[in-house]
Amino acid sequence: MKIKFVFKILPVLVFYSDFLLKTWMGARSFGFFMIIRPTARSSDAIMAHELEHSRQYYLCTTTGVILLAIFGFIFSHEPLLYGLVIFGFIFSHEPLLYGLVIGFFPLLYLTIPRFRYDMEVAAYKEQLRRYEPAQREAMKNHFANIIATKYKLPAKYTKERAYGDL
Ligand SMILES: [Zn+2]
Repeated sequence: MKIKFVFKILPVLVFYSDFLLKTWMGARSFGFFMIIRPTARSSDAIMAHELEHSRQYYLCTTTGVILLAIFGFIFSHEPLLYGLVIFGFIFSHEPLLYGLVIGFFPLLYLTIPRFRYDMEVAAYKEQLRRYEPAQREAMKNHFANIIATKYKLPAKYTKERAYGDL
């Protein structure tokens, strides 16, 4: 296990294992941690892809905390207390809301195809930048195909579209 950081200070735990990886996956992000296949251990490109997902996760979680604070400010009997982002989060006493904040990114990712598509395009873009220019064209083609076929997206997210967006 090792620790990487995104936005300089936010930790991401890196585990090397085949656990929870589908056969076509080299790695998988779970927000604040990721699992990388031991055979892909030395791939900077795969690491870059998964770290992008961690950045997305933390951005989403922060957005969730802010929304929760606004929600608390509007509906709380102690608006001053809840108006402060951190206090709103710590004192909300609503486990359901904590769950919503922690699970904000997975919820959007799993339920909104457009969101999933955009997040993967961003992650594959980061991955592509790690390849030598000579390899990049072939990999772009490969990734466009993976995006169109492996992420259970509606038919309108074609390989051609993904290629254009990468
Ligand atoms: Zn991805």
